[in-house]
Amino acid sequence: MGESNFSNKNMVWYNGTLIPYKDVKIPILTHSLQYGSGIFEGIRSYPSSSGSNVFRLKEHMRRFLNSAKIYGMNLGYNQEQLFDAVIETVGANKIKSCYIRPFAFIDDDSISISTKGKKVSVTVSVIPYDSIFGVDKLKGIRCKVSSWKRLNSSILPIQAKASGNYLNSIVAVNEAMKLGYNETIILSGNGYIAEGSGENIFLVKDGKLVTPGDDSDVLLGITRDTIITIAKEMDFEVVLRNIHRDELYNADEIFLCGTAAEVAPVIDVDGNMIGDGKAGEITSKISGAYDKTVNGDNQKHPDWISAVEF
Ligand code: PMP
Repeated sequence: MGESNFSNKNMVWYNGTLIPYKDVKIPILTHSLQYGSGIFEGIRSYPSSSGSNVFRLKEHMRRFLNSAKIYGMNLGYNQEQLFDAVIETVGANKIKSCYIRPFAFIDDDSISISTKGKKVSVTVSVIPYDSIFGVDKLKGIRCKVSSWKRLNSSILPIQAKASGNYLNSIVAVNEAMKLGYNETIILSGNGYIAEGSGENIFLVKDGKLVTPGDDSDVLLGITRDTIITIAKEMDFEVVLRNIHRDELYNADEIFLCGTAAEVAPVIDVDGNMIGDGKAGEITSKISGAYDKTVNGDNQKHPDWISAVEF
């Protein structure tokens, strides 16, 4: 995303009220800023003829509430109220193609670590957005297996989408970028493939899609679930199992997927060319079906789209 592309005109939903972005003032000692104790979501909304279509908002709000529950944060809003907050914020900002960032944090500037009894604030921000990997996404991206291991649920709750978890992603992606790669692939502590810094991973071998299972050390992405569902509907076999590192090098195709990344073909891992070094045929089919689905053109899943009119 690079430098802020947030204009002063943007409105942020802050504990139930829409206020200009420039008027949000957070004290420097705020607990979540100091200790990484925020929880968040990343949601996409795509242009429609009458405004914008938010993709799988219900599922994102469910995960947001689950993250809050894991950390004992009482958000003070239920799933429907949070859903409405996102719809209201997208409508107020009138940005057709955007990334939506619900964020809840410990809004307290005392320096003690425990969150007990501390105030929780909830915000929703909307950012104009197109693509995370830019032109590299079409060409295919180059990935480096990280020397850092993925955190696991004996260290931190991995199904909570919490700010602090991203330090693990940051060291890994920074290492990969320093070496000239676009993205990292992180192994779990037991040496199997986990995920990217902010994406799940699939490989394609002999016409089948393979991705780490629900019991692996990965965030169970909503895009991952979307792809498993639509790939099965397209009659692809999808296998959920542990993946060894060397299987990456021999894969016919690899792609990363996430709300921001969508379906991003991987054409190189650690300097080894994947397939013929171009976005693979099955990856392209899945990517096309994903684009159709998020744009509201998949008749099988009208419930995944929430229209905002403006
Ligand atoms: N893994 C990690 C670590 C992530 O940050 C993300 C992005 N939220 C994903 C996977 C993909 O999740 P989703 O498809 O829900 O965006």
